[in-house]
Amino acid sequence: MFTNQFPFFTNKPEQVYLDSAATTQKHQSVIKAVNDYHCLSSATVHRSAYAIANEATLLYEQARDSTAQLINSPTVEQIVFNSGATESINTIASGLQSHMINGRKILILASEHHANILPWQQLSKRLGLSIEVVNLSAQGQFTQPEYDAFVKQLNTNVAILAMAHVSNALGNIYPVAEICRLARQRDILSVIDGTQAIAHMPVDVDSMGCDFYVFSGHKMYAPTGVGVMYGKSKCLEDLLPLRLGGEMITRVSFTDAEYQLPPLKFEGGTPNVAGVIGLGAAAKFLTLNILAIQQHEISLFKLLSSGLEKREGIRLFGNVNACIQYKGKQQSQHSADLALGHSIGLQSFIFNNHHLYDAAASLYQKNIALRVGHHCAMPLMNVLNIAGTMRVSIGCYTTEQDIQRFLQALDNTLAELD
Ligand code: PLP
Repeated sequence: MFTNQFPFFTNKPEQVYLDSAATTQKHQSVIKAVNDYHCLSSATVHRSAYAIANEATLLYEQARDSTAQLINSPTVEQIVFNSGATESINTIASGLQSHMINGRKILILASEHHANILPWQQLSKRLGLSIEVVNLSAQGQFTQPEYDAFVKQLNTNVAILAMAHVSNALGNIYPVAEICRLARQRDILSVIDGTQAIAHMPVDVDSMGCDFYVFSGHKMYAPTGVGVMYGKSKCLEDLLPLRLGGEMITRVSFTDAEYQLPPLKFEGGTPNVAGVIGLGAAAKFLTLNILAIQQHEISLFKLLSSGLEKREGIRLFGNVNACIQYKGKQQSQHSADLALGHSIGLQSFIFNNHHLYDAAASLYQKNIALRVGHHCAMPLMNVLNIAGTMRVSIGCYTTEQDIQRFLQALDNTLAELD
């Protein structure tokens, strides 16, 4: 759809890129913003008062405005820049103080990325909490029965709910607005990993009512090494910072320090200024186009999943059928309103008779870029009793022709392997 706005595809016209869940290609406005910063206003931020330093600070803070707008953050001060979702979740898990939580359990979904598991393991040890897992069906689906069981689990002394908005391994969209409402009623701290949602659907953290929402720039057409931690103001005030160092303080002695208010409290050290400015450009692009992108990707996803479903010897995972039923729905509704059991952007599957890596090697030779493996969701693969999946994931630049080329290449690959 926006393919010609991504220079990568002009430079690599033969490439079918179906690995956007791993990282996205960069939008031309992102590349220009980063390049302009390096060529015209390369200085660090929040420190000096000469002209280019002021300009760099202005661009950096404008990126914060654009990011706040993208997710409808009530204030810009609630947008913290860091290196990505991994850092965000580590910051939250290591910075929570005992007065911020009520209860004895950390609830996570079976499909969480390692970045949304490992930090909680450390916190559970630090605060003596237990980790409990929300189950999915044997096909990795989250539909009414799994949801009902989940709601029951929420009533069992849960302190923290940490879950993805969209699963990177399955593509399931979880109904986070409704879940955060239930969490609020029970005084449960909600941490939503929006890494796989942010580039695919409108996100409104204010109406979602989550305590934290995190994501990475490189999954939303921005550079690597930059990301966002949104938090409710009170949560950010109470959370202890992880990165201690330059510029995050108001006063320091050899034995004590007074921290800045959020967001600067969490931005110690020299930030990734170029990355943040690039992320700001990506946020602007997404704010303008997200509804069209969502619609485009839903129709491509249907093409992809129904194409795979029609082929013999392939087992699909996640909420695929539910998405195909999505057809009649209003496309312009908010992600928060998306009903239970939908999927977006990616499809995971295995072959009944072929090894994933054999198929992948053949597809790579045909210029198809996709991912095989556990997708940093090893516990999920154990629950599903598989070693991994082949994952095809799309972005706003993916075309119908890409999907058709992939399906054709897959047919050829399976014929070669038979
Ligand atoms: N959460 C999800 C759902 C992801 O898909 C990823 C990356 O694949 C992460 C967290 C970690 O993101 P990053 O490596 O950019 O910090």
